[in-house]
This record gives sequence, structure tokens and C-alpha cells, in this order.
Amino acid sequence: MNLPDYLRCVEIKELLLKMGIHSIPDLKPVVFEREVSSTKTVEIQNPQLAFAEKLKLEAVALDQVDVAIGKDGIIEVNGIKACAYIKKQKQGVNRYNKTSTYRYHLCKCQTIEGMIASGRKDRYVSTTRSDGTFPVIDQSVYPACEIEVTLELCKNCKILLESKGMMPKPYSLKVFFDRFQPEIPSKIRKTEQVIVKEPYAPNHREIADRYKEQANFICQICGVDGSSKRFCIHLHHKDGDGNNNNNSNLSVLCTDCHSKQPHHPHMLKNPTFVMQIQEIKILRREQGIPQLG
Ligand SMILES: [Zn+2]
Ligand SMILES: [Zn+2]
Ligand SMILES: [Zn+2]
Repeated sequence: MNLPDYLRCVEIKELLLKMGIHSIPDLKPVVFEREVSSTKTVEIQNPQLAFAEKLKLEAVALDQVDVAIGKDGIIEVNGIKACAYIKKQKQGVNRYNKTSTYRYHLCKCQTIEGMIASGRKDRYVSTTRSDGTFPVIDQSVYPACEIEVTLELCKNCKILLESKGMMPKPYSLKVFFDRFQPEIPSKIRKTEQVIVKEPYAPNHREIADRYKEQANFICQICGVDGSSKRFCIHLHHKDGDGNNNNNSNLSVLCTDCHSKQPHHPHMLKNPTFVMQIQEIKILRREQGIPQLG
């Protein structure tokens, strides 16, 4: 069996209030923190490194990488200087000598310029393999088969390299890469955007607003709901010290109950508060809450 809730009985509540028996519950603490966005620098493994290792061993299709021409005019794939050549060779492969009449390129020579202009990157592969031997597919035989052959540097590329002073003597691809391939850093720094929660000192206005919100704008003494007249709901500091925002020192009160707190009779001399008390009395009547003596 449920016992009746006597505090819901208007007469009993009225009587208790007249006897001054009411307790003001402490407000729950409000955490004042805000989200701030900041940048953090982290060191990560350079993704270029793994690609550079792969490129030393394999020929990678040019249409699968970023192809650019560096400031020095050298072909770069994913930012790494590399040579480019046609892998599927229709003729010119000498299977006995393991040579081919095809050439590999390092510069933006006429051939590479033509390749870029026509968008026909798909015929080309790139590599940084430096022993002068290249895997090609000999299409002069049926079925076509893969074979490693020696390729020479394109004549136009050679002229361009000489004009830039980038033609080592004696020349080999290994010497070229050793001299002109910049060191790839193993780690790179990356900045990340992070959102962190940070405690902060709120102003008085904000403290009051947040606590009133937390109490749903309901007076902690008489229970009047002031959410429709929020200016009639105050944050009261029990010890009279407006800077003491400890939870145990705070309560949310309607103007009427507030004016009845110790050391608050001055409120009744303020016409604004007197007007607010009238509003509270109207709200109480509407909400079936007894008026206090
Ligand atoms: Zn060339
Ligand atoms: Zn009240
Ligand atoms: Zn007060």
C-alpha cells in the first residue's frame, strides 16, 4: 500500500511553510568546462619510405602514382626521382644479349612531354632500380614473356642532364641516384586538430544561468515553476558572499522566497523585486501552490 504524499496536500504544505519548516536542498555541482580546439604535432612513419623501398625493386605503373616534373626537370613519382620506360615492348628486345633498343628516361624530354600531353601514362612504368637492368615484356614472341634487359638512357634526356650539370662521369644510374636523390626522412611531422575539454572560470551571470537551468527554474523553497518568468528566479548565496559559489552555498529561489531570507529585507524596497513578487504570486495561484505568509 502506498502512503499518501502529505507534501502534495496543499493545506499541510501551507502549514509546514508557515511554521518555517522547509529545507533548501543543495544544488548539484555544475562543471564549467568548454571545448577548445588545438593543434598537436605528431611524428609518424614517413609513408614515402615504404614506397621508395618498393620502387627500388619493382617497376610501378605510372598511372598508379603521382607523376610530376621536379624543379630540376627530373621525373618524380610520389615525390621520388625515378626513371620511366615502356614495359611492353613490341620489338627491339634481343633475347640473347638481354638488351633492347627501347630507352629509359629521367627528364622531361620530348618523349616524356609527349606522354604527358597525350595522357598516355599507362604504357609507362617507373623504377629507381639502379643496376641498369629493367624488367620488360617481350611482345615479339608468342606468348609474350617477361625478361630483364639492359636499357640505355634516352639521348635527349642525356643532353638535358648534361645541360643541367647532372650527368656524372662516368655515368651510371646508381651514381645518378646516389648523387641526386635526396634522403627520404624516416619520420615526418604531422599536425592534428584535437578537441580538448578545458576547465574555466565562468562569470557570475553564467554561474547563475547554469544553476537556474539545472533547477529547471523551480524555486527550491516554495516549488513555484518560474520557467515562464525566468527573471523572477534568482541564484541566492546563503552566506551573502556572491563570490562563494560552492554548491552548498547556492540555492535557486523565487523573488518572494529570496526576499524572506536572512539579511534580505532590502529587496522589498526595490520596486523591480516587488513587481517580481507579484508575478510569483500569480504563478503560484496558477500552479496551485500556497502563498507563503
Ligand atoms: Zn628521354
Ligand atoms: Zn519560492
Ligand atoms: Zn540572496
